[in-house]
Amino acid sequence: MKIDLTALTIKSTHSHLAHGDFSAEELTKSAIEVIAKNNPDTNAFLEVFDDALDSARQAQNVIDDGRAGLLTGIPLGIKDNILINGKKSSAASKILQNYEAPYSATVIENLASAGSIFIGRTNMDEFAMGSSTENSSFGPARNPLDLSRVPGGSSGGSAAAVAMGGVLGALGSDTAGSLRQPASFCGLVGLKTTYGSVSRHGLIALGSSLDQIGPVAKTVSDAEIIFNCIRGADPLDSTTIPDEQYAAARELGRRDFETGDVPKNFKIGVPRSLIETPGIDKDVLENFKASVARMQSLGYKIEEIELPNVPYSLAVYYILLPGEASSNLARFDGVKYGLKVGGKNLLEDYLNTRAEGFGPEPRRRILLGTYVLSSGYYDAYYNKAQAVRRLIASDFEKAFMSVDAIAMPTTPTPAFKLGEKTADPVTMYLADIFTAPANIANIPAISLPSGTVEREAGDSDSESGGSRSGGKSAKVSLPLGFQIMAPLCREDILFRLGKEFLGESV
Ligand code: GLN
Repeated sequence: MKIDLTALTIKSTHSHLAHGDFSAEELTKSAIEVIAKNNPDTNAFLEVFDDALDSARQAQNVIDDGRAGLLTGIPLGIKDNILINGKKSSAASKILQNYEAPYSATVIENLASAGSIFIGRTNMDEFAMGSSTENSSFGPARNPLDLSRVPGGSSGGSAAAVAMGGVLGALGSDTAGSLRQPASFCGLVGLKTTYGSVSRHGLIALGSSLDQIGPVAKTVSDAEIIFNCIRGADPLDSTTIPDEQYAAARELGRRDFETGDVPKNFKIGVPRSLIETPGIDKDVLENFKASVARMQSLGYKIEEIELPNVPYSLAVYYILLPGEASSNLARFDGVKYGLKVGGKNLLEDYLNTRAEGFGPEPRRRILLGTYVLSSGYYDAYYNKAQAVRRLIASDFEKAFMSVDAIAMPTTPTPAFKLGEKTADPVTMYLADIFTAPANIANIPAISLPSGTVEREAGDSDSESGGSRSGGKSAKVSLPLGFQIMAPLCREDILFRLGKEFLGESV
């Protein structure tokens, strides 16, 4: 059987492998070929691992023995901030360019035991700071659907890798939208999990109270398969949720689903006043309304809700995040990890290493972060932002007393062109306006592909790359995302609603 990775899902591939339609080795070979062909355009991968075929052969033995699980032999991409023992892991920063991981992240251990194949590490914004992958120190990634546009960020390489058919799924991290926003720009499913549902052990930290590792994939079922493999309490991450607590939430979910109350008695809340802001693209708004109407036609009840403090999410995020990031990045000092640029004494070593190793965005956030954490300003900024974070979380808690899920667009615009937002960091920050709230409230959220809008294609205003579709007047269809949020530990709601929205079997 001819292998076309763009047409396969994890689920369908699992049954092809089980039926012997092709082998894990043939599949991995074809993934490597696709990457060799497309990566010069997309720059989705920073490295393709030379041992991927060995892992595929081992996976094939497991398949031949009839012991294959859903992820056995499945090629995956891994964001460059998730450690794989013995492999480079740079978080797309020069300061970690040659850093080799001395151990594997817990999520990697889980996926490796399940027999998945790590094809390579995917490009990202430096230390996951950004919304376009243009902040990578190793060149931007490009959107495979239109090479003049960004794939989103910071997990843009992971999304581009799946969209171009290089892998069937990928891991990324989401601190304020970094999985959902690239998924929506590339026509994929992106899942931000409940804070503490997935171990962060072995994730290069950005904002430790906000970061979560999660999947980007083509279908809700595929995202669920990866999530089920990586979820769970971990003694190496004390912020993970105990398994019993998580199971209790699921039990509750099963009752809802089994009594046939979905969708009949299921309510989706829509915070209309929040969404209809002047910054939102008119086509995005239309598409969102159509998505809500689709849920309604499936039988869900729609209820208008208010989330009065949620408009402060970005302001809160851009105080808390730089604070946490400046502390987390303090460890990169030329002594313990990666790059060292020596000077006349220890202080000069620090200064030289950090000046040369960090790109402009980490520097900006270290400055902001040390400012908001400094003794004179801590109460005015950091503590105030913590207090507002609590208010935002309680807005969601209150809303979830009357609705089962909340819907918002994933992003205020479709994929933008490279260079369009790089001059002004604040316009780039606005890309997270609908995604940051879930991280602030710790709740799970999923982005689902919700159709496309037409935009001008081509390379008219970008000097390299550009779509191959020719002149200025050519049009390109750009995907949009429909976001659903659920209460803590209720990923099951996201999967159920997501599958119905996309017409997948539930
Ligand atoms: N774009 C946001 C930022 O720049 C979020 C990044 C993320 O989720 N990792 O911080």
